[in-house]
Amino acid sequence: MANFSETECCIETRALHAGAIPDPTTGAILTPIYQTTTYRQEAVGKDKGYTYSRAGNPTVSALERRLAGLEGARYATCFSSGLSATTALLLALLKAGDRVVVSEVCYGGTVRLLRQILEPFGVNAEFVDTSDEQVLRDALSTPARLVFIETPANPTLRLTDISFAAELAHAAGAIVVVDNTLLSPVLQKPLSLGADIVLHSTTKFIEGHNATIGGCLITDDEALRDRFDLVRKSTGTIQSPFDAWLTLQGVKTLPLRIRQHSENALEVATFLASHPRVSKIFYPGLESFPQHELAVRQQGSGGALIAFEVEGGVEAGIALMNSVKLCSLAENLGSAETLITHPASMTHGAVPAEQRAAAGITDGLVRLSVGLENPVDIIADLTQALETAKGKGAVA
Ligand code: PLP
Repeated sequence: MANFSETECCIETRALHAGAIPDPTTGAILTPIYQTTTYRQEAVGKDKGYTYSRAGNPTVSALERRLAGLEGARYATCFSSGLSATTALLLALLKAGDRVVVSEVCYGGTVRLLRQILEPFGVNAEFVDTSDEQVLRDALSTPARLVFIETPANPTLRLTDISFAAELAHAAGAIVVVDNTLLSPVLQKPLSLGADIVLHSTTKFIEGHNATIGGCLITDDEALRDRFDLVRKSTGTIQSPFDAWLTLQGVKTLPLRIRQHSENALEVATFLASHPRVSKIFYPGLESFPQHELAVRQQGSGGALIAFEVEGGVEAGIALMNSVKLCSLAENLGSAETLITHPASMTHGAVPAEQRAAAGITDGLVRLSVGLENPVDIIADLTQALETAKGKGAVA
């Protein structure tokens, strides 16, 4: 980059400029979509850094420089989805007989991958409440290769103190990864809190427009980065140049969007918390949230996600989700549009019922990813949907 120090810039500036290199041929301000399979080599053994687009692609590299810059890290490796990033992480670090300690509340696809795909290969996953000091200590009294933390956790938004968990995990000889998908580097930088690796589904806030599926792994450790690159090349899970290009455009407004998402979510959560038909609400930005103090210290604001239960339980919750008009009933989060999701049947449907129950993912839980509409309109939609859900199910 030309005349300024990327590492000293504010995050808004980095979202636009980190790793940007004007096109050497035309000066085009946007990195072109290098839609090419292969690269002509000058002589045997003499290439320009790229040989085949399953191993590396200049558009994907531009996104990797941008995402590393946003996390304040040295390296990023981009994948075709958040779950292919998780898969690469686990394949890169684990072998048969290894143990991984995982936040018991986490994205359902992570649970499915560990339980249904990796456990048959001999990987031992233990799901524990990583937010509980004693539980984590006990879990780490048996050797573990990896501690996989999701904070805030999808969908109940339980928080884990990253500095504390990283200290315990490192003392036990484990590597620490934090899934930072629900906040993005604008609100939380796990590497600066002691984590070794950050994982993102870029599908969510980073790209932010419901346009792509993608993921990445970020680290300061060159050996880890090399291992992630090797797994990606060997399993063929690099992100496509077009999706990387779209993500490069989406990420430019990430700091602005995430701030507005959080402001809107606080307004919507305040409305829901005082609504007579909302029986339970989880939003880290509310003072009533049990870990509010940690939320303020670790992530600064509440973020965009709210989880809640409606008076009348499952039936009323489902009636509400079926009645929204502006909000969309859909699987995803972190997009400009407000999305409402039923975790028990959608995002966490693959999590065994007992594990869902232990993690507080009730059948009536509603997850709301608050978008960028005016909150007045979101609240009006929820008001009419709550009215429709009135009288449904068993009211205590
Ligand atoms: N991590 C979290 C916290 C998620 O919510 C998700 C998807 O919802 C993923 C990872 C997986 O990402 P992707 O859907 O891009 O594979």
